[in-house]
Amino acid sequence: MSSIDNLPPLRDVIRQHDLRAKKQLGQNFLLDLNLTAKIARQAGDLRNCDILEIGPGPGGLTRGLLAEGARHVLAIEKDARALPALAEIAEAYPGRLTVINGDALQIDPLAHLTPPIRVAANLPYNIGTELLVRWLTPSQWPPFWQSLTLMFQKEVAERITASPGSKAYGRLALLAQWRAEARIVMTLPPEAFVPPPKISSAVVHLTALPEPRFPADPAVLSRITAAAFNQRRKMLRASLRGVHPDIESLLEQAGIAPTARAEEIDLEHFCTLARVLKAARQGT
Ligand code: SAM
Repeated sequence: MSSIDNLPPLRDVIRQHDLRAKKQLGQNFLLDLNLTAKIARQAGDLRNCDILEIGPGPGGLTRGLLAEGARHVLAIEKDARALPALAEIAEAYPGRLTVINGDALQIDPLAHLTPPIRVAANLPYNIGTELLVRWLTPSQWPPFWQSLTLMFQKEVAERITASPGSKAYGRLALLAQWRAEARIVMTLPPEAFVPPPKISSAVVHLTALPEPRFPADPAVLSRITAAAFNQRRKMLRASLRGVHPDIESLLEQAGIAPTARAEEIDLEHFCTLARVLKAARQGT
């Protein structure tokens, strides 16, 4: 008997349904239900929320989310082998778990969710960053989610939460921190997973801000941060040369030294530069 519900221990579930982990699906399972309940608690108060979970696998985190009181969990899982195990969980929590068998990159979950919505997942490593970028760049802000509580490889978690001047600082940090508050809330060693991955993992909790921290056009900000960090060793007057013919004076207008490098520039200055550039293009 497990500690958080009356369902069988996850090791038994995996054995019974022959859920041997497949590398190509990024399967590294969490089998300790105390740990999955702890991760679920990092997602905040779940009682009045719908939760979107990507990749429930045998359902360790799903069970944590439900045991912590989630109103409803929508779980999208690509591997059909996990469906019988997930059906057992749905039966133990009547009306509170919906499972969709499919690719999270292809499915629009919104039709199945009622706000307020939180996202919680131990993400498959191969699609984690792509999903995060999608969730951070919706067509409208605020986004559909209140918070994202996501497991990443530790190195990716550090890129999301990085500060200027650090090696990990780049586009992902700017994107995440412009309209959300992002922090690492847990670090997990490889042994926490079955099978253990090669490197440590970390849980990042992001809360959507009602407004961006500093105003900027998302497309312009994206263009300049892409150009600046694609050549992060170069001075900005060189890396941003293709963005505007008179970039040197625009940088100065934005209070940025043209000789500075991308990794030295904070979010506020990138946003100022995006506004200056947009105004210059519009001839104002
Ligand atoms: N949540 C489970 C846990 O914590 O033990 C499993 C996590 S495992 C790292 C990632 C899960 O995502 C696997 O169950 C895998 O089958 C699933 N997955 C992989 N690619 C997927 C995709 N494109 N869409 C939905 N699920 C996917």
